[in-house]
Amino acid sequence: MEKLSYASESSTSPWVTYLRQIDRVAPHLGDLAHWIETLRHPKRALIVDIPLQMDDGTIRHFEGYRVQHNLSRGPGKGGVRYHPDVDLNEVMALSAWMTIKCAALNLPYGGAKGGIRVDPFSLSEGELERLTRRYTSEIGLIIGPQKDIPAPDVGTNGKVMAWMMDTYSMNHGTTITGVVTGKPIHLGGSLGREKATGRGVFITGCEVAKRSGIEIEGAKIALQGFGNVGSEAARLFEKAGARIVAVQDHSATLYNEAGIDLTELTVWQAESKQIAGFPGAQEIAKEEFWTLQMDILIPAALEGQITRERAENLSCKLVLEGANGPTYPEADDVLAERGILVVPDVICNAGGVTVSYFEWVQDMASFFWSEEEINQRMDKIITDAIAHVCDKAEEKNCSLRTSAYIVACERILLARKDRGIYPG
Ligand code: NAD
Repeated sequence: MEKLSYASESSTSPWVTYLRQIDRVAPHLGDLAHWIETLRHPKRALIVDIPLQMDDGTIRHFEGYRVQHNLSRGPGKGGVRYHPDVDLNEVMALSAWMTIKCAALNLPYGGAKGGIRVDPFSLSEGELERLTRRYTSEIGLIIGPQKDIPAPDVGTNGKVMAWMMDTYSMNHGTTITGVVTGKPIHLGGSLGREKATGRGVFITGCEVAKRSGIEIEGAKIALQGFGNVGSEAARLFEKAGARIVAVQDHSATLYNEAGIDLTELTVWQAESKQIAGFPGAQEIAKEEFWTLQMDILIPAALEGQITRERAENLSCKLVLEGANGPTYPEADDVLAERGILVVPDVICNAGGVTVSYFEWVQDMASFFWSEEEINQRMDKIITDAIAHVCDKAEEKNCSLRTSAYIVACERILLARKDRGIYPG
């Protein structure tokens, strides 16, 4: 394989993590493995410079990205991240995980992802809007409802999607709602989208717990990330009788053996924009989070969180990957040896892209479904997908991650094989 000049050498980089996951699936793919090299190369990567006039009149430049990893099965699909650590390597990996996720769920999409290296909390609302509009214009060449459909990710939300949709529409002279998903409901958004990813974490978690004899009622859960994904997943587990004993975000790590009251924590976070200082729990050291006694761990913040060392010390039965890429491959091995089950990101957090798919379909048809219909359809797709992945794991005697990658890669590479290489 040619070395990719833009891939970081670091063995802990997200792209290297992804490549190592692909290496693991190759031996299971039979003749289709002939085509696997395509998954080791993003189809298209765009780096854009975004000049921004700040409120004080100065001008700052930000770097933005949009990567389309693979489009064999349909238009690209994937979120846009605003975070100070965003770089090309990370966006490449996130786009590749979208390729795998969409195929594992059998959604008619390829994988893409975008981002800007910026701390969105350091900008005023006006600066954030101008940044978003210029970024959207810059990547406007390669996005579109039939080309590549962005959505929210860490640091972006429905408001950012509304600005993206409006900018793209202004540049095309007509309203095109289907260019992004995760929009506000009154602008072509879908009911159920905001809570979908957390809901998917809950559904896949319950399904795997049931198959492995793990009780949800009374289970002790530790959660990293109290944002869109983590807070909704935790709320559903709490409703099902589990106890959320620890919550960590960028500001603090909270612990309460009796269970943290999520309603109170939500109110606290809405007011102070972080969980630090919450009076209903004790604050503990950040690293202590990984050594707590728990039944279920839900990483729902950033990638690269479960290292080999943390995996060796983890005391839980089940890991539900709400975040993308939270576990290093060597940590996966340790968890497997220790009998700790991992529901991989590409299935566990796929509820969001599933309802994004519904949003795109509704925008195309200009006909909108009820929340009940959306949740029913989503529950069926996610439950069928996780059941298929569990069955395949039993058949192949492999981890749920490798099984999900087998299911996905077979679909992608079959599409690739039948399309062939142009011009041949
Ligand atoms: P969010 O911005 O709403 O929340 C992120 C949370 O992570 C916040 O609570 C933040 O404080 C916390 N966090 C940030 N840095 C941290 C650190 N260093 N240590 C501990 N906590 C930290 O983001 P989100 O939409 O909930 O996304 C979370 C994860 O889920 C990401 O990996 C994202 O790619 C993935 N994901 C999101 C969706 C979606 O629909 N939003 C879908 C699929 C996957």
